[in-house]
Parts: sequence; structure tokens; C-alpha cells
Amino acid sequence: MFSKNMYELGAHSSVIREIFEYGKKRASEIGKENVFDFSIGNPSVPAPEIVNETINSLIEKIPSTVLHGYTSAVGDADTRKAIAEYLNKTYETKFTANNLYMTCGAAASLTITFKALCEEGDEVILFAPYFPEYKVFAETAGFKVKTVMCDKNTLQVDLNAFEKAITDKTKAIVVNSPNNPSGVVLSEKTIVEMCNILRNKQDEFGSEIFLIADEPYRELVYDDVNVPYLTKYYDNTIVCYSFSKSLSLPGDRIGYILVPDEVRQSAMIYKAVCGAGRAMGYVCAPSLMQFIIPYCLGKTADISIYKKNRDLLVDAFKKYGYTVAKPDGAFYLFLKSPEENAASFCEKAKKYELLLVPSDSFGFPGYVRISYCVMTEMIERSLPAFEKLAKEYNLTGENNG
Ligand code: PLP
Repeated sequence: MFSKNMYELGAHSSVIREIFEYGKKRASEIGKENVFDFSIGNPSVPAPEIVNETINSLIEKIPSTVLHGYTSAVGDADTRKAIAEYLNKTYETKFTANNLYMTCGAAASLTITFKALCEEGDEVILFAPYFPEYKVFAETAGFKVKTVMCDKNTLQVDLNAFEKAITDKTKAIVVNSPNNPSGVVLSEKTIVEMCNILRNKQDEFGSEIFLIADEPYRELVYDDVNVPYLTKYYDNTIVCYSFSKSLSLPGDRIGYILVPDEVRQSAMIYKAVCGAGRAMGYVCAPSLMQFIIPYCLGKTADISIYKKNRDLLVDAFKKYGYTVAKPDGAFYLFLKSPEENAASFCEKAKKYELLLVPSDSFGFPGYVRISYCVMTEMIERSLPAFEKLAKEYNLTGENNG
């Protein structure tokens, strides 16, 4: 009568969404100011001024039928050219408008790319911890998902495990740096070694293995950390980008797919991207958003606020005795659960109105994700609750370097 798979996806929302909804319900019961919701990655910092300024000036300048009309299916040519030029200037690359396909954010970039690449029997490798929707997107496109656990100490890719996981069926891997949920930025050393493994495996199996770089957090890094541009390390790299987080525009749904010329059969893959976009109805990303992008390239929301939030939480957690590493990017902290069962820890946290996400759905049990793209003032008010929770587990002092 209907698709059971789709029913299952619709009937059971993600754990993150469930906790977020619980938070809204709880806020209506006890007041918003008494709930400390660290569940969702909805940017708390406003979009930079240039976004609204550009929208206002384009409304004045461009006829409504153009501004709100269809662009070409792959996206406006001038917007794609501006993005290519910006990337070339920033990363010393040689892209053109023809390498770019405009999308409704990273989710669309990923679903289109998976659909464009997947043939029957293909496998995709995800590194855990991973953004839970990857599994949904990849399996819906027909991929068999294989998970490789990151190194427990560094949360960088475990290169030995990665090498062992690649087979002649491996069509793609997904790399997300800065990472949701760990905040880890992959080091250049890890990337170089990972790409060497990929090249060797391609030679061994006579196959093509695509590196899908999911990059919505690229610009969200603190303390001058370098985020290597992956197309420069491995030819078969396809970039899935989104402006959702860098410009604080998650509701406006704008991003792109980049298929560089260096990708094997690049022109054909680009056509497959167009075909996947067409098949899934993802043509012509929101026009108004496309038109503002050339004016906003290289701009970000004020990310110093996220850095302040991160430092506030990391310092407090160390003081209370939690085990947590200071992440380099994104706006998430990955805190070790003081008991093995992270879901049970999250239930205890709820008693103090702290809403945290257990790491099981990220494929990496035993941790919780804390999304710190929230108001700094809420973090300050939440600290006594975190302290009481630590006391319940008899945690003491700085137990983490
Ligand atoms: N990839 C990762 C790692 C994310 O964290 C998210 C959203 O939180 C997405 C993709 C989807 O981003 P978008 O809102 O641009 O579709």
C-alpha cells in the first residue's frame, strides 16, 4: 500500500529531533529560561549584516519575476562563476561554473551525490562518529553502509581500520571535517595518509573510489586551525557544501556540489549529478538565495561567539571532572559519558533540565553530543546543573589534559 521504508523513516524521527521536541514541550511547562537545550545544531548567531543588506538591495534592483523565478536547473550561471572564482582565489584551484551544481543545502548535496554515484551492490564507508542522516541518505540511494570507528583517543580516522574496510565494492567514503558530532578537524597528516590508501586501493582493485567531502562547517574553526582543501589531496573528490552554518542560513536552504575536472569521468559524473537532482526534484535551488551568494562569499556569522561558548564549557567541564577534548571546529562538544550507557546518562541529565544527545545514533557509543550554538547566557545559567550532575557521578577536578 505504501513504502514501509519511508513509513519507518517518517514514523521515527531522529534522536536529536526527539530531544529537541521534548525541550519545546518542557519549556512550555516550566518556562524556556529553565530548560538547557543543547540538542540541535541551529546556529544561534545571526546571519552577517551583508545578507539582509543584499536581500534588500536585490529586491530594489532585480525585477520580481527574475528574483523569484526559476534559474537554470543547475543554478544561476553568474552565481556558480562567482563561487568558482572565490574557491580559486582562496585555495589556488582552477574551477569554473561548469564544476558547480547549486543545491538546497548539504542534505540535498549529499542525497544527490549518493544517488549520482550508487550502482547496485556498491558500498559507502562512513567514519564513526558520523552525522546520523548519512546512513538514511546513503541507504535510500541504495548503498550498503560500512562503518569505520575513529581512533578512541584522537577521534581522527583510524587508518589501519580504514584500509581493512575498503573492498572492490567500495564506491565512496564520506569525510566530514570539522566534524559533527566531535568537532574534530582532520589533520593534514591524516588526510595525506588516507588519500594514499585510497589511491593504492583504487590501483589494487582497478576501481574508482570517490571521496565525498561534506563541508558545512569548513569556516567554523577556532585558533587559526587549518582545514585542508580535499580536492588538492585526492583527484576523485566531490565537495558537498552548504551555507547553512557559515552564514547562519539553515532555513534558507542553499549550498552546492562541486565536481572538479580532476574527478575521473568528471563530465559524466556532473551529468549524473544533474540527473539525480532531476530525478529527486532538486532542480533550481532557491533563486533569491542563489542571487545573494556572490555578495556573501568569504563572509561568516560572528563565530567568535561559538569560540567563547566552547571555551566556557570546556573549562567548566574539566573543572567538574568530565572527560572532554577541546574541539577545533564546528559547534559541538563530544563528552565522554561517565557511565557506559550514554542514553542513561542523558536521562539523568534531564533531571537537571540539561538536554544532551547520546552518541549511539552517531555510531559511536559511550559519549554525548553537546551543541553549543546556543546563547552564551544560557550556557552560564546551565553550569550549576552540569556541576550537580558531575557530583551525582562523584566526578572530581581536572581529570583531562
Ligand atoms: N552534514 C552535516 C555534518 C550536518 O551537520 C548537517 C546539518 O546539521 C548537514 C550535513 C545538513 O546541512 P544542511 O542544513 O545544509 O542541509
